[in-house]
Amino acid sequence: MHEGQHSVDLDGYFDSIERCRAKFSGLRILTGIELGEPHWFPDEAAAVLAAGPLDQVLGSIHCIRLDGGMLDASQFRKKEDIDFPAAVREYFRELLAMVDSGQAFETLAHLDYPKRYWLDGAAPYEEKDYEAEIRAILRAAAQRRPPAGQGGGGFPDRHPDGRIRRLQAGARPGLAVAPLILKPTSPAHGGAAVAREDGKVWLVSYALPGEVVEAEPRGRQGGVAVAATTRVIEPSPHRAPAPCPYFGACGGCQLQHAEYAYQLELKKQVVEEAWARADLRLPPDTPVLGMDEPWRYRIRGEFEAVAGAEGWRFGFHRMRSHFVLPIDTCLIHDLRIEHALPAFAQAANEMHIEGLQNLLLTVASISTPESAPSR
Ligand SMILES: [Zn+2]
Repeated sequence: MHEGQHSVDLDGYFDSIERCRAKFSGLRILTGIELGEPHWFPDEAAAVLAAGPLDQVLGSIHCIRLDGGMLDASQFRKKEDIDFPAAVREYFRELLAMVDSGQAFETLAHLDYPKRYWLDGAAPYEEKDYEAEIRAILRAAAQRRPPAGQGGGGFPDRHPDGRIRRLQAGARPGLAVAPLILKPTSPAHGGAAVAREDGKVWLVSYALPGEVVEAEPRGRQGGVAVAATTRVIEPSPHRAPAPCPYFGACGGCQLQHAEYAYQLELKKQVVEEAWARADLRLPPDTPVLGMDEPWRYRIRGEFEAVAGAEGWRFGFHRMRSHFVLPIDTCLIHDLRIEHALPAFAQAANEMHIEGLQNLLLTVASISTPESAPSR
């Protein structure tokens, strides 16, 4: 904690939030916090985040370290003999250090804080003068792992995706929005299907070519509009019920809604199209090598750790999200891997391990008594 400052009174904060929510029941009141220099105070930051569910967590830099102390950027101009441009570069360096630290914030706040307190007489603030620094920060932010402390001192029992969806759905009650009806025609790399509507291209997840679906826009990806199927109006004859209970929320699988033989056909079409774009053609009878039994085949698994109210659990990233969906079963992994997940979680909880990020499991090919040659 900064000298002479106090930690936020989260109990009082949540109490006032509850009173406001009770008073203004028609409003959706979110909670949130801005963590300043959280990488300097990791224990305090974790304690604050563990105090209750926060909808928004911002991370930001206000201060740099200078001459053995801390100096807020608002004070740069008041300090005599300061190398002002160097102090601003140090500000950006500290910002990059915070992003790289893995601290559990989701939103990077104000990159240009020093601009508010610019030095009179100095050359005006221009982003391009700091382009290298800003690019490095944004690149690091884009490549960031999910918050290391998600739940682990982070956000217990948060389901941000669901929360956002409820927010959108409930924000304008009674306002009729025409549903987006899409007719995908071809498969896309990554399991989605491509639809064209009024000249606009959509990547529709959980839809199959030839179907008519109702879908919900989900932003953009690589310059293309993305939508997720919310209702199938005209199903494909190749549609199949997904066996996995997490299908649709989990980011691990994209095609379980199609029969396996058809999944192979779709993948072949995707490869053929990619080759065609490069002016290449697959030999006419190129087979797709599938499996006899497309379940329980993976002997290697990488799982993300997430801490909730009952301690550590393991899972996968949610669909198009950095947040982790804890799972109890994964039908594509070897049963030994599935059974290892709760065992490792229990061990981590009993040993009070902190800061877990992920778990890599590989099934060793050891010979069992049945398979070993008898003597
Ligand atoms: Zn701030």
